Amino acid sequence: MEEVSVRPVDLGQLAALLPADRAERLATAADRARSAFGDRVVWHVNATSHGGGVAEMLQTLLAYAKGAGIENRWLVLDGDPRFFAITKRLHNVLHGEPGDGGPLGPAEHAHYEEVLRANLAELVRRVSPGDIVLLHDPQTAGLAEGLREIGARVVWRCHVGRDRPNDVTDAGWEFLRPYVRHAQGLVFSRRAYAPQWVDGELLAVIPPSIDPLALKNMALAPEQVTAILARAGLVADGRREGRVDFLRRDGTPGTVRSHRSSGGLLLGTDPPPPTVPLVVQVSRWDRLKDMAGVMEGFVRAVDEDDLNGAHLMLAGPEVSGVADDPEGAEVLGDCREEWRHLPAEVRGRVHLACVPMDDGDENAIIVNALQRHAAVVVQKSLVEGFGLTVTEAMWKGRPVVASKLGGIQDQIVDGRDGLLVEDPYDIDEFARILGRPLADAGLASRLGAAAQARVAQEYVGDRHLAQYVELFSDLVRHSDPA
Ligand code: UDP
Repeated sequence: MEEVSVRPVDLGQLAALLPADRAERLATAADRARSAFGDRVVWHVNATSHGGGVAEMLQTLLAYAKGAGIENRWLVLDGDPRFFAITKRLHNVLHGEPGDGGPLGPAEHAHYEEVLRANLAELVRRVSPGDIVLLHDPQTAGLAEGLREIGARVVWRCHVGRDRPNDVTDAGWEFLRPYVRHAQGLVFSRRAYAPQWVDGELLAVIPPSIDPLALKNMALAPEQVTAILARAGLVADGRREGRVDFLRRDGTPGTVRSHRSSGGLLLGTDPPPPTVPLVVQVSRWDRLKDMAGVMEGFVRAVDEDDLNGAHLMLAGPEVSGVADDPEGAEVLGDCREEWRHLPAEVRGRVHLACVPMDDGDENAIIVNALQRHAAVVVQKSLVEGFGLTVTEAMWKGRPVVASKLGGIQDQIVDGRDGLLVEDPYDIDEFARILGRPLADAGLASRLGAAAQARVAQEYVGDRHLAQYVELFSDLVRHSDPA
């Protein structure tokens, strides 16, 4: 297992951004955690150190918890391609989609358990009785029983789900239930995601959050935004292609690379000029994010009223960079194919960008700049657990056009903090709504301002940290002595 090292960040830095009452509550939560947890270690186990929302949150929440004096460790499990194919299938199935359509039968159980047995052997050498272990997502559920056996306090957190269960989700839960039942606490991003059989006593609902101070979200001046994007080759601005330095999460200096020597980050197009309005979706190359549908909707909207000359940028991680996501290359390949078949006059306005994952800090600052530069951020997911990309864009005051489902509908009140698309399969509806903030600057700025306020109120890390403290304190108090 790989241990991800996270540098502590002083909780006071986050507190300084909060209204006084919230800063006080955060300090109280930190006191409570220190006295309730004592010298117990809080372990997080997930499937990847970078790429996707879970890794994003672990980086920042662990940094603050460490800064508050709580001992936190983060381990990434090892798996082989077959294991990740099974767990990706589970991920899709819990979203109600068949994914690769493969089985989830005895052979898959056997392989899943075999891989996790090897991980457990390593975990039990590190975890002490009484420690708290938070297991993230389907990849880790099978570790719960073995960790309980050594006296750890075990919580399983599921970051995915579907608003209304169907036969497909039932099959996924049937696979996971024998593992999950060993956990002493179960966390979901929305109440609706918990299967019927979950004991209400064990259930906690904790929506995700962002960190305003992370490289992904920190304030950037407009000239920094253009400089970062020009340097990375995502916008064309000859005057600003020079060196761009930044301070990394660990305090060391970082620099945005030009990426020209490796062929650039855009597949097949020249970067758009900085003055052109840019529609942006940032997502993993996952079918359920529907990058291809965004492209189709954009082209249809351009067909109808040109969208003020706007361009579209679909940005995702470099596909070799996310080990637990075996579908990435295929989905990106399909998008490229669709792009090749676009009419010539619109093809140059549709950009596919692959942002390298080998330097997580560089990736974060590029995504930050891209979201800030966007005239509109879209998230046309077909299903969505929560949608941190939506939160990130809202925090940056961008007008967001997104599907009315999953956690997106919790974040956005339609017409107030963003615009929701009722049916994500309806390309016409999406195209029509996409045109609105591009045609109406007043609307765009009203939506952006309300969005920023909403995130500041509900989706900043202090709320999330306090919910963890409450959950873990209860667990420690109610558990049998180790
Ligand atoms: N992300 C990123 N680089 C990329 C694509 C995505 O850093 O090329 C980040 C994105 O900014 C967000 C997270 O990955 O923080 C995605 O989280 P979300 O909840 O939107 O979706 P998930 O990938 O967890 O399904």
